[in-house]
Amino acid sequence: MTFESLGLKKELLKAIEEKGYTTPSPIQEKAIPVILKGNDVLASAQTGTGKTAGFTLPILQIITDTKNPKFRPIRALILTPTRELAAQIYDNVRDYSKRVNIKSTVIFGGVKPKKQIAAIRNGVDVLVATPGRLLDLHDQKALSLKRVDILILDEADRMLDMGFVRDIKKIIALLPNQRQNLLFSATFSKEIKKLAQGILTNPSLVEAAPENTTAEMVTQKIYRVPKSRKAAMVIELISKGNWDQVLIFTRTKHGANRLAEKLQKKDISSAAIHGNKSQSARTKALKGFKENSIRVLVATDIAARGLDIPLLPHVINYELPNIPEDYVHRIGRTGRAGASGEAISLVSREELEYVKSIEKLLQQKLKIVELEGFDLTPTEQSQQNRSSTKKPKSSQSNKPKRNFGRKKKSNDTKENNPKSTKNRRNNNKRRFKKGPRKDNG
Ligand code: AMP
Repeated sequence: MTFESLGLKKELLKAIEEKGYTTPSPIQEKAIPVILKGNDVLASAQTGTGKTAGFTLPILQIITDTKNPKFRPIRALILTPTRELAAQIYDNVRDYSKRVNIKSTVIFGGVKPKKQIAAIRNGVDVLVATPGRLLDLHDQKALSLKRVDILILDEADRMLDMGFVRDIKKIIALLPNQRQNLLFSATFSKEIKKLAQGILTNPSLVEAAPENTTAEMVTQKIYRVPKSRKAAMVIELISKGNWDQVLIFTRTKHGANRLAEKLQKKDISSAAIHGNKSQSARTKALKGFKENSIRVLVATDIAARGLDIPLLPHVINYELPNIPEDYVHRIGRTGRAGASGEAISLVSREELEYVKSIEKLLQQKLKIVELEGFDLTPTEQSQQNRSSTKKPKSSQSNKPKRNFGRKKKSNDTKENNPKSTKNRRNNNKRRFKKGPRKDNG
């Protein structure tokens, strides 16, 4: 693949040559042709993938093709979260536009606006901006966005993280309705997907992430929940969310069987798939799952590996794997860039140590959320907090857990016997009557 074959004009090819690039990067290969066609684009790309040239080169070609040299309104607006990134993108825009008749500038906060205003008044075709300063200058009537043909949201996830969502919405309201939109993001949270849905029209999905960063393409959530309430939580999530294709991972074969049975009892069609099942049973379960006659497939890691399952909207870790790499494989089953994909982990107190190893591997903190009706009691919360500060113990440890002086039961019995949770809560109530504990106050 060459830059020529992507359909770029010779002036841009010359600029690329001067930069010393010989072949397009994967994101450039995929994004440039679809942007040139005028499509909206939803792109999954991190810094370092060559994404800046991926959107800058085609927009320079599009706007030079339609330019009226006597009048230079802003026709491409590149929004970016930070000053540094804005400056970096502007440098790129300048380099790539050396041989075309395109003017550009950059605006960001933290510096006096006078020069920025003067540059805009002289006429610019491409404006690189951070959202706050852009709105400031618009409020001062120093610029107009009424002629913008192309909007680029770069590092959209970081913009949302930095609280720019309202600014972005305000900016979009200032743009013409008819325009091309390009959204670049390294991660695809629910918020990003929502933003993308509101902005993009029939976007082409473009992905350029190495396989081992799959984890970052998926919305990952942790629900902290006692072991004994996990089945109820799964039932609640699936029924309330109306999920129709869910892959659930358990650590053991028995666990998989038990959960599948519980779901069946609640009229959620499901099948377990693991090493003890015959090949024909596995094939049948998989076929039913793919054809949507089975809503839930409950699987162990080994059984799931090598299964030909399409990417799914929902993957649930009923128990976390004790090998962090297995977590990455598991969640790799769910949606990637653009496709809605959610990986949910139900984490009990005993599994908090696994969260740490997974976070270390992913180099990313996992988001902890709560499900209504499943709030941890203050005692459960403090238990979880205590164990999250404990030193990690060996992965499969079966050390006896504190049971408030009650007779120890096996985990299985507890899970099948909701009474034990109730008793524990009653027990907690008795403790609270004596007055709140310091760590809850
Ligand atoms: P970016 O992901 O846009 O921040 O780009 C990362 C780095 O890759 C920048 O230093 C670019 O100049 C460089 N770059 C972009 N496209 C190419 C390419 N096709 N070949 C070699 N380097 C590139």
